Amino acid sequence: MPVIESTRAATRWTTRIIPFVLAAAVGVATYAVVVRVCSSYLIDTHRRYGAAIVILVLYLLFFLLMVTTYARTIAVANTDPGLVPLGPLAVERNSRERKRTKTGAQQDLESQAYYAGPDLNPDSPGLEQFYAREVFVCDSDGRPKWCSTCCNWKADRVHHSSELGRCVYRMDHYCPWVGGMIGENSFKFFTQFTTYTACYCAVVLGATAFTLRKKIEEGSGLDPWVLAALVLAAFFGLFTFLMTVTSLRYIILNMTNVDMLGAHSKVYQLAVQVPRGTRSSDKFIVVTYPLPKPGQETNGYSSRTPTLEGAYGKTNGSRPTTRDDLATRTFAILKTEPGENPWHLSTWKNWQTIMGSNPLDWLLPIRKSPCVNHETQESFYPMGNALKDVRVRYGLPRDPVDHSNGFELKDLPSSNRT
Ligand SMILES: [Zn+2]
Repeated sequence: MPVIESTRAATRWTTRIIPFVLAAAVGVATYAVVVRVCSSYLIDTHRRYGAAIVILVLYLLFFLLMVTTYARTIAVANTDPGLVPLGPLAVERNSRERKRTKTGAQQDLESQAYYAGPDLNPDSPGLEQFYAREVFVCDSDGRPKWCSTCCNWKADRVHHSSELGRCVYRMDHYCPWVGGMIGENSFKFFTQFTTYTACYCAVVLGATAFTLRKKIEEGSGLDPWVLAALVLAAFFGLFTFLMTVTSLRYIILNMTNVDMLGAHSKVYQLAVQVPRGTRSSDKFIVVTYPLPKPGQETNGYSSRTPTLEGAYGKTNGSRPTTRDDLATRTFAILKTEPGENPWHLSTWKNWQTIMGSNPLDWLLPIRKSPCVNHETQESFYPMGNALKDVRVRYGLPRDPVDHSNGFELKDLPSSNRT
């Protein structure tokens, strides 16, 4: 798999150097703990075999877990960070730019036009993945959010990373320590890595601090290797402990670093499926998919959103008459209260969506988080009570009900509603 690197040269160089810095720090710690503390001090000087074995076993255990989770995080963050596929316009634009770079031609105005707003084509590729679901995050015209750089529709919790120049699923942050993007594919492994590194540092810190204290009491002077390992363990231990606490907090709140930005005042706009025939009201406006083609009347009852009327001509609210009409899906555009997190389920379910249900998954960096599966027809990520509260506030039933004579539900093969 190709390595996905940062678009910034400084970051690329930093991420290449960091593994050597970490390897040197681990080398110092290993020499200090294994040779100076366990072998020389505990075994040779004091014959304390039990203490030496306990330290060595703990050291080896957390060393292996740390290295394994680090390797897994690096591999996933660098080769499979959860990029959203580029839209056709961006693919075309990139291929033009590559050709232009080869021929040395100047940038033409035509290529710049691709950076414009959302694709206005009602059949825009990828749009159907949104209106096939019961709810998705939308813009004020009822269409999903659009990335003008990647020319793709942004699924819920997708954010554009300027570091990678691409949109990333459930983006968290770009981590120079692993040299890649931490998103839904790697957040679990990243949390395991920081946790095990904090544990590893705690073992080193405990062993070196104990030895230093004993040596001072015995008047045998400071061992510079043990002291160096203690300082390194204290520094990296504190850093990774704080990262672990932050990551665990995000997991149980079902938040990311990006979600946290302005979280107290953040308002999400949601397109929530409503029974066909629902009309725009003074509480909300509705949009009906598939969007009408330019010059056509809408094929739903009630696509009376000003933006769509402006883009595609007046709608007349006529009732559906053909088989195609019955395949339409109507969505009300609703807003959460400031600070409401639509993806908060419960502490336990939030944990499971990232860490999995099996304790082995919690401990070992093997399987990815369950939340990477976006096949459900309900939403890109499961939504919790906040969505129900939003529905009630807008006068809709708390739970979705059988829409419009059952036609829409029959069209949903994996809908598991009862
Ligand atoms: Zn993007």
